[in-house]
Amino acid sequence: MKILVLNCGSSSLKYQLIDMLNEEVLCIGLVERIGIEGSILKQEKDGVEGKLVVEQPMKNHQDAIKLVLEGLIDATYGGVKEMSEIEAVGHRVVHGGEKFAGSVKITDEVKAALVDCIELAPLHNPANIMGIEACEEILPGVPMVGVFDTAFHQTMPKSSYLYGLPHELYTKYGVRRYGFHGTSHKYVSQRAAAMLGKDIKDLKIITCHLGNGASVAAIDGGKCVDTSMGFTPLEGLIMGTRCGDIDAAILPFLMEKEGLDAKGLSDMMNKKSGIYGMTGISSDFRDIEGAAKEGNELAQVALVAYDNRVKKYIGAYAAEMGGVDAIVFTAGVGENGIATREKILSNMEFLGVKLDKEANNVRGKERVISTEDSTVKALLIPTNEELVIARDTLALVK
Ligand code: ADP
Repeated sequence: MKILVLNCGSSSLKYQLIDMLNEEVLCIGLVERIGIEGSILKQEKDGVEGKLVVEQPMKNHQDAIKLVLEGLIDATYGGVKEMSEIEAVGHRVVHGGEKFAGSVKITDEVKAALVDCIELAPLHNPANIMGIEACEEILPGVPMVGVFDTAFHQTMPKSSYLYGLPHELYTKYGVRRYGFHGTSHKYVSQRAAAMLGKDIKDLKIITCHLGNGASVAAIDGGKCVDTSMGFTPLEGLIMGTRCGDIDAAILPFLMEKEGLDAKGLSDMMNKKSGIYGMTGISSDFRDIEGAAKEGNELAQVALVAYDNRVKKYIGAYAAEMGGVDAIVFTAGVGENGIATREKILSNMEFLGVKLDKEANNVRGKERVISTEDSTVKALLIPTNEELVIARDTLALVK
């Protein structure tokens, strides 16, 4: 069965066509600037040189998905001969609220529930719904599955997901910790157990998904018991442009001092903060590392603050679970940031973590990066959210 995996953002769309017979990626693409000037689709096929590039106006996701489907049957860069070979579509959905603790086949009821979740993820869920509706139009009758970023975290106990706020804010508005990147945390924790040759039920794992957005999860016996992102993907770690944990009292203070309203505050915390805001240089880790090497003090401080925040969560989650067997690094920075992994795991011998610096000197490959005698294993595991989405889709439409 060939499955199309779609990850629709507000103005972008990532996709992969996967043959589930051998889990081979047939082609992979990205559409950017949907609904704005300069819309562009780029698609690649493994083993074929060059790229399919389509530059033409795409006023919405439907326009974009039509071009994606044309790309999929492209003679050079496509993965199938006819559209009818695409037997199912798996959609990444950011927010499933409390309604979805696992992936589901998309029905009218599910769509209505997704609309209910828009309030919780106003930037993401509308784009996900647009993607689903566009597929219904263009691929009528092809089954679709929704895979939620929040689902894996639904096993958290109340004590982890309730905030120290008046309880009625939870009952009235659903104000609680949901957690995100669940598909990635689930995938890498399962891979970690497989790599260590252990049953996941016997392991306490801390997974660090360090990308543009970043979060840490505490996974005990295969179940998420706590995670650093919260009601929205803002809480927790310092990220590319997001501030992560701050004293909430800063917000009313800034409302008065800077005259910021809700949108102004949200923009400041989500788009103008993180390593970008701290340095004024860039949200890209490589730029900050470069600037730090050249002696930029703010960049040096931002990197230490970033590493320390991850350290703090690892310590907290080890304490919360009563120990830890494995620490996993994944996503852009986690997979490529050799120095970052080294700094995060430095001085952690007290916890039983000993980094093998030589083994750590690698990018984007599955590998144990702790020493033989390290009682806590450290692992580098490239994430593969698309594969999880495709597997869940296959399981639900079979
Ligand atoms: P997302 O999917 O959240 O957009 P990614 O997981 O792709 O993000 O991570 C993107 C980030 O990974 C980039 O912003 C960059 O900071 C970081 N990154 C990529 N390559 C490297 C590298 N070689 N060294 C350090 N950081 C890197």
